[in-house]
Amino acid sequence: MAQIIGAVACSHTPTIGFAFDKNKQQDPVWAPIFEAFAPVQQWLASKKPDVLFFIYNDHVSSFFFDHYSAFSLGVGERHEVADEGGGARDLPPLDGHPALARHIGRSLVADEFDMSFFQDRALDHGVFSPMSLLCPHRPAWPIPVVPLQVGVLQSPVPSARRCYKLGQALRRAIESYPDDLKVAIVATGGLSHQVHGERAGFNNTAWDARFLDLIENDPVRLTEMTQAELATLGGMEGAEVIMWLVMRGAMSSNVRKTHQSYYLPSMTGIATAIYENLASPPIAGESNATAATSTKNSPASKRWTAPTRSHSRPACAPTASTSFCTA
Ligand code: FE
Repeated sequence: MAQIIGAVACSHTPTIGFAFDKNKQQDPVWAPIFEAFAPVQQWLASKKPDVLFFIYNDHVSSFFFDHYSAFSLGVGERHEVADEGGGARDLPPLDGHPALARHIGRSLVADEFDMSFFQDRALDHGVFSPMSLLCPHRPAWPIPVVPLQVGVLQSPVPSARRCYKLGQALRRAIESYPDDLKVAIVATGGLSHQVHGERAGFNNTAWDARFLDLIENDPVRLTEMTQAELATLGGMEGAEVIMWLVMRGAMSSNVRKTHQSYYLPSMTGIATAIYENLASPPIAGESNATAATSTKNSPASKRWTAPTRSHSRPACAPTASTSFCTA
């Protein structure tokens, strides 16, 4: 049976790809980005996953608002590089894994998620920026990818809780695939940034730190937050961090973080992290597989039970009269 061997979370700014293409590894401004991704590349090289399940959002490169879906799963044989206005980057296409993708699609729909499916849609920097630093790509990428495009650009956006629940269903889907595949989850997006409007250039490093703590230790609390609350804290575009909750839902309630970095070089807080599953406490009457994703009744989940909305603001949330904490 297929298994999830761990998860990677990282930002997906275009600048990551530009820095790679311009050989900025030694540039003191950009070097920290390469240093941040190096342990993740080493982790992937050592774990040797057979497939990456890659959660990202398109930036109106291949998915447009004339027909926009909440969750679009790539089931094709290969995925080309999107031209985002300046010509496509000189990278080979990524292989897909149609058999696994179609199994996951069937399982998610059976689990009451009304998925959209795509083939022959090029992937943009949401995938290829981080991929440049996650894996070598000559002569070809070493790992096939199953991409999940999340519709975070046009309202109504799926809720944080919906993303988390999709992740839980994703785990059931992957673990019911009959072949022995090692699957790593990759979630991209964020952290805090806003690229337009009065708050263009906005960052909130305190919230970024809080988010990194919550995604590891208390993801259920994040699922209690609205998209407006996430945008207030992390910027309009920074609210795309709900995509990390798909990854987190696919992982055990208890995870071990083996790597984390954070760097703010320009517009966007750039983070990288690696999570591995820890065994969940056994729950009477449940199988191990069920217990691993349960959020009910376990000692751990009792500890994480989200308070009611009126008391659930993270510590660095703004109050009615205060500005955003930026310390
Ligand atoms: Fe994005």
